Amino acid sequence: MRALALFSGGLDSSLAIKVIQQQGIEVIALNFVSHFFGGKNDKIEKMAEQLGVKVEYIDFKAVHTEIVKNPPSGRGKNMNPCIDCHALMFRYIAENLLEKYDAQFIISGEVLGQRPMSQNKNALDRVKKLSGIEDLIVRPLSAKLLQPSKAEREGWVDREKLLDINGRSRKRQMELAEEYGIEEYPSPGGGCMLTEPNYSSRLRVLEEDGYLDEKYSDLFYLIRYGRFFRLGEGKYLFVGREEETNYKISEYAGIGTVHIKGAGVPGPAILGYGELSDDDRKFAMELFSRYSKEKGKAPVKMLVNGVIEEIGIVNEEELNEKIKEYQI
Ligand code: SF4
Repeated sequence: MRALALFSGGLDSSLAIKVIQQQGIEVIALNFVSHFFGGKNDKIEKMAEQLGVKVEYIDFKAVHTEIVKNPPSGRGKNMNPCIDCHALMFRYIAENLLEKYDAQFIISGEVLGQRPMSQNKNALDRVKKLSGIEDLIVRPLSAKLLQPSKAEREGWVDREKLLDINGRSRKRQMELAEEYGIEEYPSPGGGCMLTEPNYSSRLRVLEEDGYLDEKYSDLFYLIRYGRFFRLGEGKYLFVGREEETNYKISEYAGIGTVHIKGAGVPGPAILGYGELSDDDRKFAMELFSRYSKEKGKAPVKMLVNGVIEEIGIVNEEELNEKIKEYQI
């Protein structure tokens, strides 16, 4: 018997794995990687080590973007299409991975009632139904409160040893972590980037402009960093805040039309995207000056697409108006 587990590296998915391992069943952990979550990092690797599981990273970016774009079950509070996102992961496993890994069923760390919108009874049922493989999904942490799955009916897993956790309290999970000797685990997060209000409002702008599409996926990363300005449809400025975001923004210089860096006076990295007019370009240079060490109060030289250019003292009032108008 072998099970495949949805594995985020968080406590719930880790406990779900542990509960199944306790029954002598081998588990392979699957970490789904989209543009908005997932991917190899120290926390995941460390947790996998504590659990003694192998992690497989499953890149499903393109199909996931489609779900973010058109979620049949709608979105949560922000841009998060949680119900369809979960259902997609299950469906993806059923269609591509069960046979590949010679596994019989799938487990996930979903907890009944933990998230009022996406983990209530109806939502869990809907995820199962949409996945097309409802009978193969086991949710070990709340299984006793749910319909028995095939794995339980057939006796592959002992339903009696599954759990009946319900609600938002984390107490049971923390006790179980102690019991299982899971010492280090991340504090529970609210979800992925798509559940973050600021990120979502930026992504919504891309959506309105028709840029929420796989072929523009670099923009999904750029809107994570620093300041974001929308100058018009498909015309954006990404402005770094500190060393890290300057570096991240500069990594995407290849897809921009304007790239500004400091030339003597330290300031933010700025990337212009789309067909920028001369005025847009001037605005970008003023922003550089405004957020540089000189704060717009003295002429500042900068490298614009590799050529040194200079901008004079900035009219603060006018610039603040423009910032207010364009910043997202
Ligand atoms: S929080 Fe993000 S990763 Fe989790 S189900 Fe919702 S959309 Fe998917």
